Amino acid sequence: MHPVTLGRITVHRVEELIWTISPRFLFPQVTYADFEPYRDWLVPHFSTPDLKMRLSIHSFVVRTPRCTIVVDTCIGNDRQRDIPQWTNMRTAYLANLAAAGVDPARVDYVFCTHMHVDHVGWNTRLENGRWVPTFPNATYLFHRKEWEFWRHTEEDNQAQVVRDSLQPIFDAGRVTLVDDAYVLDEGVWLEPTPGHTPGHCSVHLSSQGAEAVITGDLIHHPAQVAQPQWVSRACWDRELSIATRLAFLHRYADSGTLILGTHFAPPTAVYLVRQGEGLGIRYDMP
Ligand SMILES: [Zn+2]
Repeated sequence: MHPVTLGRITVHRVEELIWTISPRFLFPQVTYADFEPYRDWLVPHFSTPDLKMRLSIHSFVVRTPRCTIVVDTCIGNDRQRDIPQWTNMRTAYLANLAAAGVDPARVDYVFCTHMHVDHVGWNTRLENGRWVPTFPNATYLFHRKEWEFWRHTEEDNQAQVVRDSLQPIFDAGRVTLVDDAYVLDEGVWLEPTPGHTPGHCSVHLSSQGAEAVITGDLIHHPAQVAQPQWVSRACWDRELSIATRLAFLHRYADSGTLILGTHFAPPTAVYLVRQGEGLGIRYDMP
């Protein structure tokens, strides 16, 4: 994704990795054959020629005239996770941040759309055996409902995420808990989109008539624009996640609002368009 300019706001995509997986890995009820009707607009950017999904793990860096905001912090290096490829990773994420002109010490805010493993990792980094904030001077904005849901989780993998990526930020005194519709800055506010998790929020950007939304995981893959009832195995409330996705897709179809997909592979930024009875996407070439 080329950097996006929305009036006085800019957005950079900072990549951690591209993850290629079978549809069934994320959507237990969905087969390769179910993807076949959408081959023309999914291959090669969003799916491989054999219809594996190409999912991106990245941050969006939002700059306003006043501040720099990192939205979602990926998986992180040096973690012990239940997915082998995500364990003890050594990615170029910090170098990619630098290439986007981001000095971690000068980031003002970090916001996590929700508290799953692939959205909070680079909240911290390992330094001399301790987890310390990657963005030492930032205020980390966490949704109150999301934290209340996860802080005492007994699920092993997520409890590990709390220990290495969330609790250290509280211990460092850098958290502000926020509620629905919180305004981060002029033209930057939270848009509650619950279902994937209880406190899940998207981020709305608006400047000088230009509009965009960072999705978070209310949608994982562009095929869900055509098939909104496909639910990821990680969703907390299946029915609510479908209802939220449907409402979102219809709210922004043909609206001119740029959709910044949190797991959409490049070109990442798409427009939602009505096509007959259903919905599709339109995008500029990467
Ligand atoms: Zn995710």
